[in-house]
Amino acid sequence: MAPEVLFLPARNRSLKKVFFDPVLCGIMAAMLEKDTICAVSTPPGEGGIGIIRVSGGDALGIVSTIFRSKTGRALTDQASHSVLYGHILDPATHDIVDEVLVSVMRSPATYTREDVVEINCHGGMAPLWRTINLLLASGARQAEPGEFTKRAFLNNRIDLAQAEAVMDIIRAKTDLSLKAAQEQLSGGLSSEIGSLRDRLISLAASVEAGIDFPEEDIETESGQPLAREVNGILQEIGRLLSTSAYGRILRDGFATALVGRPNVGKSSLLNALLKQNRAIVTDVPGTTRDVLEEYLNISGALIRILDTAGIRHSHDLIEQEGVRRSLAAMDTADIVLIVLDGSRELTEEDKRIFHEARGKTAIAVINKSDLPRKLEPVSWPEKQVPLSCKTGEGLDMLHDALLTLMKQGTLQPREHSWAVNQRHRTALERTQAGLLKVLDSIQAGLSPEFISLDLRDSLDSLGLVIGATFTEDILERVFRDFCIGK
Ligand code: GDP
Repeated sequence: MAPEVLFLPARNRSLKKVFFDPVLCGIMAAMLEKDTICAVSTPPGEGGIGIIRVSGGDALGIVSTIFRSKTGRALTDQASHSVLYGHILDPATHDIVDEVLVSVMRSPATYTREDVVEINCHGGMAPLWRTINLLLASGARQAEPGEFTKRAFLNNRIDLAQAEAVMDIIRAKTDLSLKAAQEQLSGGLSSEIGSLRDRLISLAASVEAGIDFPEEDIETESGQPLAREVNGILQEIGRLLSTSAYGRILRDGFATALVGRPNVGKSSLLNALLKQNRAIVTDVPGTTRDVLEEYLNISGALIRILDTAGIRHSHDLIEQEGVRRSLAAMDTADIVLIVLDGSRELTEEDKRIFHEARGKTAIAVINKSDLPRKLEPVSWPEKQVPLSCKTGEGLDMLHDALLTLMKQGTLQPREHSWAVNQRHRTALERTQAGLLKVLDSIQAGLSPEFISLDLRDSLDSLGLVIGATFTEDILERVFRDFCIGK
């Protein structure tokens, strides 16, 4: 486990006396590795083009050893942000490895703020990996997942919330989640955190001035005005925290559990929905595999269907495990779709499902409407959609019902599109707890030293959101989910 050390980068130097620790800043500078890194940035497999990215002080020098331009112009003489046509050559054999376009981007106007070279090869495994091996032999190092973006962060080009937004953009499955991620990358969340930090910094500075120079007549924050300002900041933090449910839905989708006894048509419904609205999704790390998950894109909103194994009474252990998972899926779902067979009377198993789903936001899907109805009317849930998976009739009504429920919940129009993620939420909750302690200390009439300590704690916690303060552990967690080459 990495040590819990808080690093403070240079942007806080104005508050040197109170907030700047030169030893910790030294550690942060040491984290910025100086070696030149390379990686294939396009997905594995065959494609028209495959891009290799190289970043670091020696990027131009290293690529020069394996590249010959058509015109004979040296890569190191090439102007920044321009493209050169030529070949990758094996320096040992002079064999041509691939015909390429090379982009030269010099520091500091680059993604990492270091010199960056991008090589556009043909998109197959052999040309890409031969080129990578030649780069490694010439002194580059294979990049770790997210290392390009981590360098952008450590070189102060973007903050941590913006770095996370990069990954949110890559993973965005709907227009809504893309817009939210773009706004976060543009600094929407960061600027709100920044102004809250400024407010906390002036509070802390004022309280600490009172400790350091009690004999001088310095205007210090005390008592009621201090409590008022802390309450104001707490209110803003509450507002940010209130976006977290929406953030989860943006990133993971609206969790919808599909439940019902066997043979009512759950699989048929899932197939019918997927046929019309399948969202193309690659494996998302960290998602549970307890139940099958499929993604639907309904009018731009992401729905994550939790396909449960079917709820029924059983003495069979494996099936009981299936039931346990179904119930758990229902527990974590935002909406439960209770599928019923409209051509049969209600059974005891249907009733048990109703019982388990009570209290949840639910829609009753009364399937098999192409057959004569035998199902008696049910009094709950209020929203009931008769449909036929066989003919497709009624599926539109189900879409509308799902969208209406989503809008009623968390997809209401808002002033901005971005929303906090789980990591931000934890940091904001820590900030909140720290500020509540400040209020307690004021109330109890404790000395400014205590108040100052709690204010500093809150400031550190708030800084974690944007990486103004961070631990090695946090960086490890943020960047480990990135893809190689990003
Ligand atoms: P599950 O066990 O709940 O997943 O149910 P299935 O999707 O496997 O469906 C059970 C049976 O009902 C299959 O034979 C389906 O062809 C049939 N079925 C599903 N939906 C409909 C429908 O809308 N109308 C009719 N007539 N049959 C359906």
